[in-house]
Amino acid sequence: MNIFLANPRGFCAGVKRAINIVIIALKTYGKPIYVNHEIVHNTHVIKNLESMGVIFNKNINSIPEGSILIFSAHGTSKYIYKKAIEKKLKIIDATCPLVKKVHKEVSYASKSNFEAILIGTSKHPETEGTLGQYTNKNKKIYLIESIRDVLKLKIRNPKKLMLMTQTTLSFEKINPIIKKLYKIYPKIIKPKKSDICYATINRQIAVKNLLKISDSIIVVGSKHSSNSNQLFQITKKKIKYSILIDSEKEINNIKWIEKVESIGITAGASTPNTIIEKVIQKINNKNKKNKIQEMVGIQENIKFHLPKDLKKLKCG
Ligand code: SF4
Repeated sequence: MNIFLANPRGFCAGVKRAINIVIIALKTYGKPIYVNHEIVHNTHVIKNLESMGVIFNKNINSIPEGSILIFSAHGTSKYIYKKAIEKKLKIIDATCPLVKKVHKEVSYASKSNFEAILIGTSKHPETEGTLGQYTNKNKKIYLIESIRDVLKLKIRNPKKLMLMTQTTLSFEKINPIIKKLYKIYPKIIKPKKSDICYATINRQIAVKNLLKISDSIIVVGSKHSSNSNQLFQITKKKIKYSILIDSEKEINNIKWIEKVESIGITAGASTPNTIIEKVIQKINNKNKKNKIQEMVGIQENIKFHLPKDLKKLKCG
């Protein structure tokens, strides 16, 4: 059997930075360290950090005054940020700089009296944080997920309207929605550079390349990871045998694995390399005649700096 490995796969620069921030904070300040929501959407990362003394928390009201609080890579709303300062929590912001880019666009729309439309997944922490950058009480930001939602919109002034998207969606998902929006609101302003981030785009290009040569695909990532899910959705539409798994433990449950001649393996931007390796090893151990091939792909050299004030904490 041929095993093809997508390139790139796994951790992106924003996820590496967020995890580094938590580890440095632990070393610098000791436990416990609180993180608002999961730092990134991966069960293994979360379990590992919990074992080191990190407490993941959705309700900042329950965090003791004066504690260290890290905002996750997904970002947070202005309201929660303000509440954390009022509670005298010591804040470290691990929001990915590419999520911050979208925050700035929403903030600009809010200050400039534009209404805004965000294409995103409801209840996802990134979406909630991005919606929470819009503070203009006289105007509105709308969250949409589908063409059906576009038809329900009641925009007050279509000439003052801006569009943003969640960073981890796919062009397959957003393009038909954007096309419909342009038809109804031709003056809508969209960002010069796509809000879908480089890591999401590169992993989607890589999985499409895998689809050309593999008759099955395994996406390694947690079920609630948005970019892992987008990879899975892309494969699901194209081939019969594709699955999203959280770890190598799920491999024995994949019934079609014995039937296929080739397997493409990819992983979402929050999946640790150790887990991807375990998946590759477990599949490889099933058959000694496997041929493993690393695909040629886009080189990623992006690195995000750590926050300068990691030691000089913002205190309430
Ligand atoms: Fe940042 Fe994209 Fe990685 Fe999310 S997936 S943390 S937006 S680089």
